Amino acid sequence: MILLVGNWKMAPNKSTEAINLAKKISLSAKTYKKSINTVICAPYIHLPFLIKNIKTGISFGGQNTASSEDVAQTGFINSSMLKSYGATYCIVGHSEVRAHGETDEQILASTISILQKNIIPIVCVGEKERDGHGWYLSSVKEQVEKIFLGVPKNQIKKIVLAYEPVWAIGKNAAREATVAESREMIMFIRKVIADITDEKTAKNTNILYGGSVNEQNAFNFISEGGAQGLLVGRVSLDAKRFSSLMKSISLSQ
Ligand code: PEP
Repeated sequence: MILLVGNWKMAPNKSTEAINLAKKISLSAKTYKKSINTVICAPYIHLPFLIKNIKTGISFGGQNTASSEDVAQTGFINSSMLKSYGATYCIVGHSEVRAHGETDEQILASTISILQKNIIPIVCVGEKERDGHGWYLSSVKEQVEKIFLGVPKNQIKKIVLAYEPVWAIGKNAAREATVAESREMIMFIRKVIADITDEKTAKNTNILYGGSVNEQNAFNFISEGGAQGLLVGRVSLDAKRFSSLMKSISLSQ
């Protein structure tokens, strides 16, 4: 089963637009439900409306959560709130959140708090840039180790990782990553997990690829890029393109 996660980031502006878009995505998701598990991570403010109005086809998630339940955190939301609305997934450590200063320690604490509420964390890791000496491997290793060494052992198998090279994300991406780059890094991440846990856990960890994924390149990231799923930004805001993407990856199963 492919895990397909749409990250709507800070769009759309109105809840009515969000519901219309999710209804269209839900229709396509139902068509491909045998091979694809579709999740939409929407802005918090839309989540209650989405979860109330769309009961089939897709699950919903948040895009981050506070690292503690201390109420003195203006502008934040916590995992209990996500749980009470019925969110079943939550992105943690997205590069756009890390860019605002969120640390590996906070990302670990958020992951633990999400797991405590029985929500599935989608933990994003990825290097800011590639160098010719392989230093980028160390930065990803550190991010993965922080999570896998810090989360209670009995919760590890619930973690979903998303490998997102920061240089390949969004409209300002330097370029798309190649399938070979994705495959190598996902293999490397599995090795890091195996060294901390064991081979079986590493093999069973769900690792997604994200970064300028579209209806043209999605199939290859799944069939040859080593990913069990995809984290998709811009294309998840376009129901037609997202549906074509679903169609293409369903053919890989
Ligand atoms: C993302 O935001 O996680 C992402 C991968 O964005 P995009 O698909 O637009 O590059």
